[in-house]
Amino acid sequence: MIPFNKPYTTGKEIAYIEQVLASGHLSGNNHFSKKCQDFFENRYNIPKTLLTTSCTDALEMCAMLIDIQPGDEVIIPSYTFVSTALSFVRQGAKIIFADSHTDQPNIDETKLQTLITPKTKAIVVVHYAGVACEMDTIMTIAKERNIFVIEDAAQAIESTYKGTQLGTVGDLGTFSFHETKNVQCGEGGLLLINNPTFIKRAEVIWEKGTNRQAFFNGEVDKYGWVDTGSSYLPSDILAAVLYAQLEEIDEIQQQRKAIWQQYYDYFINVDLEAFFSFPSIPSYATNNGHMFYLVCKSQEQRTQLISKLKSKSIHAVFHYQSLHKSAYYKNKLNQNLVNSDMYTDQLVRLPLFFELSKDEVDTICKAVASSI
Ligand SMILES: *Cc1c(COP(=O)(O)O)cnc(C)c1O
Repeated sequence: MIPFNKPYTTGKEIAYIEQVLASGHLSGNNHFSKKCQDFFENRYNIPKTLLTTSCTDALEMCAMLIDIQPGDEVIIPSYTFVSTALSFVRQGAKIIFADSHTDQPNIDETKLQTLITPKTKAIVVVHYAGVACEMDTIMTIAKERNIFVIEDAAQAIESTYKGTQLGTVGDLGTFSFHETKNVQCGEGGLLLINNPTFIKRAEVIWEKGTNRQAFFNGEVDKYGWVDTGSSYLPSDILAAVLYAQLEEIDEIQQQRKAIWQQYYDYFINVDLEAFFSFPSIPSYATNNGHMFYLVCKSQEQRTQLISKLKSKSIHAVFHYQSLHKSAYYKNKLNQNLVNSDMYTDQLVRLPLFFELSKDEVDTICKAVASSI
């Protein structure tokens, strides 16, 4: 069986974990946590980053940082993972769902204006498959109306918009290090604080609502409860696993992008346009080898494709279900988002992981071509 995903490990993880165990400092914000944060701050030129236990947690921190109050509206694409919306709903936000483009799953920025009201507090964009949203348009609309922009860049490590790393364009950004992402530590995330006015409060929210960080910095002589927050720090054991991966980020990216390219080159060279559409990368965006997907012409075709691949021992999977139709949110709004529903029914993801061999990719490509 060719699995859909196989988390990559570099081999150095165990040695780094042993180092943490021997140090006697296993909690968060220790040696490896700081090394990971420094890595991102230096590599992407970010004023401040904080390691979290998931991207979901980093998004929850965003909702607290922009001070969402009950009734505030937040615009979010419907075609995304639950966490993008849930983190804001927990703080009382009303979600206004946006549709995707017809030719790619990212938020359709040309229709954003119609969703904005005086209650709009933030726009949360998702860079699907690591491909950038049209950030200039989104930032301009947001600035004119004093709306925050948050980037769910869970899939977008090492990918850019007009040369700028994704997650660093908006006020705040988030990464995920879940085992399905390019760089992983099982469960993990990062908050990217691009707007420095958020730094002090983010450190408090991160540390259970206490000013512990200010205490360590010598700014106060005792620490206590000063704000809302939660326990968002991962253990240094997880940071050790993550750091081993960060050291190999270039190799990981090179390999994943090569696999993506092999898929793409195969499919554009055989004439399959009548049966599938393929990822389109706008000129302002890059591909980071996070995901290779096809869009079928109908849901029936997709069901058949997935089962034909399964019969050949290849595990391909569909992806998000439109959030505006989810059991939890469907009765709150009555929105009609045709492109989000189309990707819900027709998009299929093919296996893509570091150890996938050229022969296996070739086998998968031929299996897809022979399914029609
Ligand atoms: C993976 C993912 C998340 C959730 O990340 P966790 O680290 O599992 O919380 C959120 N949003 C998007 C777009 C994702 O791909």
